[in-house]
Amino acid sequence: MTDSEEITFRFDQVPPCARCGGEALLRVRFGHSWTNITGHLVEGFREADLCPACDSGATPADDLLALFAVAERVPLTHLAEFGCRVVAWVESVRQPRSTWFVCEVRKTLTGTTASCPDTSSRPTVP
Ligand SMILES: [Zn+2]
Repeated sequence: MTDSEEITFRFDQVPPCARCGGEALLRVRFGHSWTNITGHLVEGFREADLCPACDSGATPADDLLALFAVAERVPLTHLAEFGCRVVAWVESVRQPRSTWFVCEVRKTLTGTTASCPDTSSRPTVP
């Protein structure tokens, strides 16, 4: 058993955005696992910043940014909604790389030539 589904987040004294150095609203840390080239499952953590400058324009991030726009501090009454949006956003951050990567690894291991359907979501390295 692992805690790979656990998401921890902080919105007090959030470090600057790792991508642009601007003011990030939220930093999340979440379990992240992938299959390496030898077929072994590797587990680790990733961190992601929610940054108005870098993340606006993508739907799950926009939903979350909208909530921050309404309230500087997330009110307790919105905590469940906030949690849902955080999870949706983390999934959007987490998925493209793993889906694409798993597909590529599967191709390598099985020797198939099928193209991965989601190459457009291949991660861009800043
Ligand atoms: Zn940024």
